[in-house]
Amino acid sequence: MQTVYSRAIRAFAALLLFAALLPALPGHAEEDGLSYAMDVTLDAQSASLTVEARVAVVNDSPDAWEELCFRDFMASVIAEARTRTDEQLSLQSGILSASCGGEMLEVRVDAADASIVYVALKTPLASGDRCEIALSYAADIPEGGLRCGYFPLHTESEAGRTFELAQFYPMLAVYEDGGWVVEPYFVDGECFYTRCADYDIRLHVPEGYTVVASGDETEEAPSLWRIHADRMRDVTLIASDELDVACGEAEGVMVNCYYARGEESHRRQNELSMQAALDAIRAFTDAYGQYPYAELDVVESNYEFGGMEAPGLVRVSQMYSWFFGSDTDAAERAEYEGKLAATVAHETAHQWFYAVVGNDQYREAWLDESFAAYSEQVYWRFVGKSEDDITAQMDAFANAVNEAEDVSDLCIDLSYDELGGDYTPAVYERGAAFLYRLEQALGRETFSAAMREYYAAFAFKEAATQDFLAVFRPYAEGNEDAQALFATYLRAAR
Ligand SMILES: [Zn+2]
Repeated sequence: MQTVYSRAIRAFAALLLFAALLPALPGHAEEDGLSYAMDVTLDAQSASLTVEARVAVVNDSPDAWEELCFRDFMASVIAEARTRTDEQLSLQSGILSASCGGEMLEVRVDAADASIVYVALKTPLASGDRCEIALSYAADIPEGGLRCGYFPLHTESEAGRTFELAQFYPMLAVYEDGGWVVEPYFVDGECFYTRCADYDIRLHVPEGYTVVASGDETEEAPSLWRIHADRMRDVTLIASDELDVACGEAEGVMVNCYYARGEESHRRQNELSMQAALDAIRAFTDAYGQYPYAELDVVESNYEFGGMEAPGLVRVSQMYSWFFGSDTDAAERAEYEGKLAATVAHETAHQWFYAVVGNDQYREAWLDESFAAYSEQVYWRFVGKSEDDITAQMDAFANAVNEAEDVSDLCIDLSYDELGGDYTPAVYERGAAFLYRLEQALGRETFSAAMREYYAAFAFKEAATQDFLAVFRPYAEGNEDAQALFATYLRAAR
């Protein structure tokens, strides 16, 4: 079902929904938790942005903090953009100044990794204490940047411009086990690790731009948008002069699907994205529990293939639309309709696993990627795919390894650097098969009870493999098949 509402009605309905949902949610945001108040200006002409941020930081560790660690991932995005061109790119990013209570603070960029930035505090922040840091930040936005960049969605006419801004602000790192977690950036998977926070953002954009954001976005005045995103792990913003929107609803969640206006094949992709998103929300609500936010935005992107998740917002590659024109034969069209649906379902599943239940994506990618890949099968089952077909796919995945690597161990709970070339088979394929086979071993009802318990227990928190095992092991007591699966696929279970 797809319904089109006016923007005003949508905004009102979203507010009502949000108010109605809030009391039922697990793990309420603490009012004095981590928060970001940001004034962001996007200069489309120079393709740059400035951020004036006030970050309320709470020391959630037992140690006193003498410095804070922020990640400037735009430095990594720019470095990556340089590797894709022979041109000399004079792009830059960085924290220009930091202060606390009017006192300037020293800013130190890590010598080996420019994405790691330390801000020295004048007095140590004791365990449980809170401080507010003011940061001035600026960054250039690479043309065609992978996670953060700009481009025309109308690739032939190049008539419009779309900015996709992810990890575009200084993000407080996680402090764990006596130190800041500062893992390296890479592009062929996710590498982020952040706590949930409340965001209040004013975004200045050129006249006529539409803004799509994690959380709730409203146009307060011409060229000024306000974004509220509560209890979100991070925030992605899209600013564009070439998007249209269609809206739907499932399980009380407003689904807004944005696409490049004016082209039939893009509109067709959007219709399919909408249907897949609505079905995925229904399937995952049933399997895991409630989606805790008022809306989900699904946005067409020039992302090369597949999609990219952010809390409350997923980007879906526009490449599927290439196969939805009248000149594509029926079989190929059907193939890409299926791939599109799987992508939308996968990225939507990341709302449950990554956005709500967080994890260290570098160290234990399986905790979000394997769950999202398994969820694709939950989606396929929901829309009527036969169990035999699903089983056959999971059998093919169960022993998948990168043939070029010397892989003798099937375990999936390893870090990006430990997996090396075996990363994709491990976290996307074997991980999905592990969860599917665990579902078969425990029985669907027992498995679902465990998944729901895991989701509720770690909502708005971060889980590790040991947390997963702590929830699932009691359900698997005396079940030899389940025990064998743990031992085969999880190093942490051995
Ligand atoms: Zn994924």
